Amino acid sequence: MPRPVYEVTHYINGEFVKGGNRFEIRYPATNEVIGTAPEGTPDEVDAAVQAARQAFKSWSQASPSARRKVLRAFAQAIREHHDELAELETLDVGRTIRDNKAGYIRSLASTIEYYADLAVTAGTEAYPMSNGYLNYILRSPVGVGGLILPWNVPMLLVSWKVGPALAFGNTVVMKPAEWTPLGAWRLAQLAHEAGLPPGVLNVVHGFGPDSTGEYITKHPDIDLISFTGESATGKTIMEAAAKSLKRVSFELGGKAANIIFEDADLDRAVKVSVDAAFQNQGQLCIAGSRLLVQRSIYEPFMEKFTAAARELRPGDPMNPETTLGSLISAEHLQRVTSYIEVARQSGAAIRLGGDRPDLPAPFNQGNFLNATIIEGLPPQNRVCQEEIFGPVVAALPFDTEEEAVEIANGVNYGLSAVIQTRDVGRVLRLSNALNVGTVWVNDFFVRDIRTPFGGMKQSGIGREGGTFSLDFWTEAKTVCVSSQ
Ligand code: NAD
Repeated sequence: MPRPVYEVTHYINGEFVKGGNRFEIRYPATNEVIGTAPEGTPDEVDAAVQAARQAFKSWSQASPSARRKVLRAFAQAIREHHDELAELETLDVGRTIRDNKAGYIRSLASTIEYYADLAVTAGTEAYPMSNGYLNYILRSPVGVGGLILPWNVPMLLVSWKVGPALAFGNTVVMKPAEWTPLGAWRLAQLAHEAGLPPGVLNVVHGFGPDSTGEYITKHPDIDLISFTGESATGKTIMEAAAKSLKRVSFELGGKAANIIFEDADLDRAVKVSVDAAFQNQGQLCIAGSRLLVQRSIYEPFMEKFTAAARELRPGDPMNPETTLGSLISAEHLQRVTSYIEVARQSGAAIRLGGDRPDLPAPFNQGNFLNATIIEGLPPQNRVCQEEIFGPVVAALPFDTEEEAVEIANGVNYGLSAVIQTRDVGRVLRLSNALNVGTVWVNDFFVRDIRTPFGGMKQSGIGREGGTFSLDFWTEAKTVCVSSQ
């Protein structure tokens, strides 16, 4: 079936604005141009910020239950358009439709509903003093938020950011990544149809430096920035945001260790490890891109793991049988393969992959890379230190628990880790010793939106999720009342 040519628009003050300068949108799996999107000008960003500021006056004063009503209608619209959204996400990212339909897009609606409900039910703390005074905490929305998104899980992050921002009474200007404008554009249409008042959610497309992203981070009327992307970009944004002392929340890169101990259920560990290394073609901040395997089981585990990874089927991401999609772009493919070259030059053994699959047209024009397993590198090698963000995993044997912790912590990142063991004591010791924001035990990427998510070290500042998002998106005011 011929695909429509997508004419993406901004969404400013409740209107869909065609904009001027347009850039091409490509389908990662074929590199075909499937539409165009506008690059926001400083004036368009300013119009969006002013609309958000104006809308803040009434949205921040609306009762949480009035906001919940609209957000629930938005969530319901997302549910009703599930299959269409899953397909758009595949067109945007090149991720398989199989993944996008396996609960991934379904979580958007429940996340938005969760925050809408939390804003209604959240209580507040009170601190009575022995001298008769009572302190209680009032929370109010902060103001206009700038939301800057990456391309790897774009719709998921719209829900993680827009949900709490709006539920707690803020208004926003959102910039999707230049690679993936379709999802945010369609979600804005659904929010509009659901009755979201003009100016509460604004979407302005464009690039980062000298473009929409920079205009947002430098805009004096934006109060907070919620950014997800590379650690290096986070540093640039922090500098820009410092000029007007904006509140920032950063979800940045990762280099997660997936640690397999000899007592693990090996078949389960293999399944979890394939998912951790190759889900979304390894383009996840939490990807288990370092596979630490206890030496006593190294070879038997690696045999099973390699066999399972070999089963991944690259190809048409819209085919429900396909289990390995495309990387986001030709540039990114080039960057990822350059790390395989570094590994080769460092004397590593490529146990699996390292090459591109032989696919029929038009997918032979896409950005596919086979699942790749690298062995024989020291933990200090660049391949084991830097975020590759592709289907490339480096296997590292270890002997003791202490050594595993040392290797796992020996990177600049600290987002997440996976521990695979049946020893409860070990779980308790390691989850304490690992310098990361999330530890999964015998599984990967199970997300309860009530829990904090975020990174230590270069992986981020702040936490998103549950009441942790409440802390970011609200101002806490202490009221101290005398009994006299
Ligand atoms: P990126 O940093 O290149 O871009 C992210 C966004 O920032 C894009 O919208 C981009 O246009 C914008 N941007 C770039 N330069 C900017 C600037 N100077 N000023 C303002 N905006 C700017 O990241 P990416 O390649 O899109 O995404 C991949 C990265 O995101 C990886 O490092 C990954 O680990 C990280 N990520 C982290 C999490 C998390 O929760 N910690 C989740 C998903 C992705």
